[in-house]
Amino acid sequence: MFVFDNTYARLPDRFHARLPPTPVSAPRLIRVNTALAEQLGLEPVFLASPEGVAILAGNRVPEGAEPLAMAYAGHQFGNWVPRLGDGRAILLEVRGLDGVRYDIQLKGSGPTPFSRNGDGRAALGPVLREYIVSEAMQALGIPTTRSLAAATTGEPVLRQEGMLPGAVLTRVSKSHVRVGTFEFFANHGDSDGVRALGDYVIARLYPDAATAANPYLALLDSVIARTASLIARWQLVGFIHGVMNTDNTSIAGETIDYGPCAFMDTYDSATVFSSIDRGGRYAYDQQPRIGYWNLTRFAQALLPLLGEDEDAAIAVAQNAIKAYPSVFEGAYAEGMRAKFGFTQAHADDSALIGTFFRHMADGRADFTLAFRYLCESAEGRDEKLRALFDNPAALDVWLAKWRERLALEKSGSPADCCTRMRAANPAFIPRNHRIEAAIVAAQERQDFAPFNELVEVLARPYSDQPEFERYAEPPKPDEVVRQTFCGT
Ligand code: AMP
Ligand code: MG
Repeated sequence: MFVFDNTYARLPDRFHARLPPTPVSAPRLIRVNTALAEQLGLEPVFLASPEGVAILAGNRVPEGAEPLAMAYAGHQFGNWVPRLGDGRAILLEVRGLDGVRYDIQLKGSGPTPFSRNGDGRAALGPVLREYIVSEAMQALGIPTTRSLAAATTGEPVLRQEGMLPGAVLTRVSKSHVRVGTFEFFANHGDSDGVRALGDYVIARLYPDAATAANPYLALLDSVIARTASLIARWQLVGFIHGVMNTDNTSIAGETIDYGPCAFMDTYDSATVFSSIDRGGRYAYDQQPRIGYWNLTRFAQALLPLLGEDEDAAIAVAQNAIKAYPSVFEGAYAEGMRAKFGFTQAHADDSALIGTFFRHMADGRADFTLAFRYLCESAEGRDEKLRALFDNPAALDVWLAKWRERLALEKSGSPADCCTRMRAANPAFIPRNHRIEAAIVAAQERQDFAPFNELVEVLARPYSDQPEFERYAEPPKPDEVVRQTFCGT
């Protein structure tokens, strides 16, 4: 049932440590992602069986797998850390029904040579959070690692808050190679390692780059483009990653390593949730800039492959990275136009859009609902939108201008415009207070119903789902979550 294709295991020894996951005492399944399992050619019923759960929890290594922990380094909050690596995850590599290779990673599966002082385990709360948010991102159409399953281990883990139930997340990615993986080899002056990794990534993720005049430059260009467009999409839905370290920056252009991530409720461009991000380095409005910084680290790591000598390589890298702002702006502007119902670009759009954001900030409006209710305004129904703003009168002037702008659209009726906008403006995002409630129920009462319901509602973020209206609502004042934690 699993078709293993252990390409990463075939890379030289310094790329990884080979070891199996560490068994746990009493694994119990929380959830299997049926649709994803099928895409991978895995039988959901098997995965939910005792044998399947034994695999998901790391108690059994299926035949043909070559489990390993990946080596990597990274810049954490701007500081260089020469040795990180998978300290609490084991990688298995499979080939899906679609012929694509996927990494399956058991996160929380026990210590590895990269664990440093950590226990190699994951607490239930962060596992549920990653499951909920990564699958919500997928449903929103944003590139992300996926969650195939979650299981409790029956073993407690010790964290700052005290003893917590342990869990393992089975996560799936197109590849777990990170900017920090390249940095690991580059920092050792290991150009052969950088080259082997570059060749690996090109073959697996960017096959078109192989035929370019300079394949490594083509690789750099592709990663720049994918990362810029990924971060643009985060901005469009109010997602804050929280730990945009280079070891958490995917070479595949996927959102990866969900820690203290969160979606903003009330619009505020400086929003920070992570308890450890004291300087606001990874605040909402800093994310595009940090993406650029991280990609500059990637370009730097690739230098040995980019030119004849160092000066030539630096010139090539600098030229490549120059593309980032325009790719980001292009993706962001296109996404924004869709959110406002515009099918073409007009010169005054960015000013008009900027004014709406100012009204949202001044009026302390909920980011997600403001856009969702704006869809109704396309049909002349402004009540719900106005009710979100502290000072709706200020918004009326803007609404009149926006309608003038919509009148320039050649295509379709107001109803068409509303439909179009609803496909770009989700009703449901994984709101912090809902995630928190799902975690508390699971942790304190072994009640996984709120978790399961939340996952199911978030699978259809662009549909109204009137019976689940409460999940679309912002937190009440006493429900607001101001801080999130890594929980590692
Ligand atoms: P993260 O914050 O998840 O991006 O992890 C940063 C680094 O710390 C990675 O090298 C992880 O493997 C490692 N790490 C995080 N939590 C643990 C843990 N509980 N045990 C061992 N290593 C960990
Ligand atoms: Mg990480």
